[in-house]
Amino acid sequence: MGVARFALCKISSSLLPRMHRPSALRQMSVAADLKNSTIFRSQGLIGGQWVAAHDGKTLQVNNPSTGEIIADVPFMGRRETNDAISSAYEALNSWSKLTATERSKCLRKWYDLIMSHKEELGQLITLEQGKPLKEALGEVSYGASFIEFFAEEAKRVYGDIIPATLADRRLFVLKQPVGVVGAITPWNFPLAMITRKVGPALACGCTAVVKPSELTPLTALAAAELALQAGIPPGVLNVVMGNAPDIGDALLASPQVRKITFTGSTAVGKKLMAGAAGTVKRISLELGGNAPCIVFDDADLDVAVKGVLAAKFRNSGQTCVCANRVIVHEGIYEKFAEAFSKAVQNLQVGDGFTEGVVQGPLINEAAVQKVESFLQDALSKGAKVILGGKRHSLGMTFYEPTIVTDVKTDMLLAREEVFGPVAPLLRFITEEEAIRIANDTNAGLAAYIFTSNVQRTWRVSEALEYGLVGVNEGIISTEVAPFGGVKQSGLGREGSKYGIDEYLELKYVCLGDMNRK
Ligand code: NAP
Repeated sequence: MGVARFALCKISSSLLPRMHRPSALRQMSVAADLKNSTIFRSQGLIGGQWVAAHDGKTLQVNNPSTGEIIADVPFMGRRETNDAISSAYEALNSWSKLTATERSKCLRKWYDLIMSHKEELGQLITLEQGKPLKEALGEVSYGASFIEFFAEEAKRVYGDIIPATLADRRLFVLKQPVGVVGAITPWNFPLAMITRKVGPALACGCTAVVKPSELTPLTALAAAELALQAGIPPGVLNVVMGNAPDIGDALLASPQVRKITFTGSTAVGKKLMAGAAGTVKRISLELGGNAPCIVFDDADLDVAVKGVLAAKFRNSGQTCVCANRVIVHEGIYEKFAEAFSKAVQNLQVGDGFTEGVVQGPLINEAAVQKVESFLQDALSKGAKVILGGKRHSLGMTFYEPTIVTDVKTDMLLAREEVFGPVAPLLRFITEEEAIRIANDTNAGLAAYIFTSNVQRTWRVSEALEYGLVGVNEGIISTEVAPFGGVKQSGLGREGSKYGIDEYLELKYVCLGDMNRK
């Protein structure tokens, strides 16, 4: 087993004056401790072996909060992906033939190990992704919950017996694993986006090749190490990272891969969907959102402020279900803006290991530049910044929590996912107008409404063209409910009893009368 090569590189002195020095030092000591942890891995996992790229190439994993290089991981491509597919294909036969109870026990053990390493996994997430440690620990519990839930569901993959149309026949429906699954995941939830796919896949007997984001591979590798420790056999779970298009193309081209499951941007999701046609693979897509958050004039103001705050600023605005447009009734617009500003200005920005911090850095410079360009577009068209609106004095990729008023539907802030800590406030007068604005997008993942009117709750929830609706609640994801979008936000559902269907094929068996001559 390769020992993780850990590069605690010196931080460039030019960065230090702009950084929070004690925080940087604290992060380096957390990183040094993690280096000695039994879960730390910095090689790919293929067929139960920790391996380098065949040509020895590596890529650096950086801490977005400090610029520190945390580790080098292999820069893999087609060749390693094909090796991983072969391992997964070889392991498929024996893994799928285990009883559901046996697979369930392995998954349960994996869940237990994730939870007993919660602190280290949380630290790893904060280190490579930047979210505050409390939020990272929440992600570990959330991510683990999918393994626990699907360990239980493994035992409930029931088929059917269909009443036959002829007296001498018996008709059965079996549910069988689709086969080898290619799972491609983003950086914003380095653990949970993997477990939400791998949990149900492994539960029903599939094997998997996982490709985490190159920005956050260490959490994925640590989770895979725990899977091995849990007794999940070699080859059942493989992890490769590096050249994303090459890895994606290898997964798409292989006839042995029977399913692609992807979470990430809509643009890449469309490419994968087109690419899957060549071998007619099953495909599930969890893509970008443009979540509306409608605040009606009958809403409880405190509930609305708290709910919008949670829906907007979690992970510094970098989640697919983050409120992207706050659409407020004209009658309470000013009052809401004032109360919301008071709440937002209390959000403490800083590195994720500092006590009290609730807003970490953005993932990289490109993310900050996207926020800046969206804001510039809005300001040039008449919007006003009432809070924040610029890079944070901490430097790096920290950005001030921002509120923009007088946002109109033609501005980029309203049309596309900003994926940053910017809350654009739009106005509406009638309920019909609010619904029209909310649905005026190609996205359809999450929507939120704040109202105390029960009839309106039903009416508006039904009218919203979204896969998820939160009513008087800003955080709605849970392993027991189906998660997924409509329109261009994706295909399929993850989590819940419905999530396992994505990894199962139906087989109809017609049994004739053997005594018939
Ligand atoms: P992304 O750029 O699409 O990347 C997602 C994954 O795809 C990464 O592993 C990336 O690899 C890989 N990738 C990129 N190009 C590829 C290609 N040509 N072929 C195969 N794989 C490729 O998205 P992101 O910036 O990481 O994530 C943010 C997006 O994800 C947002 O739009 C967000 O809304 C969405 N998201 C959706 C959900 C949901 O459940 N609906 C949840 C979370 C996030 P590298 O990183 O190594 O380049």
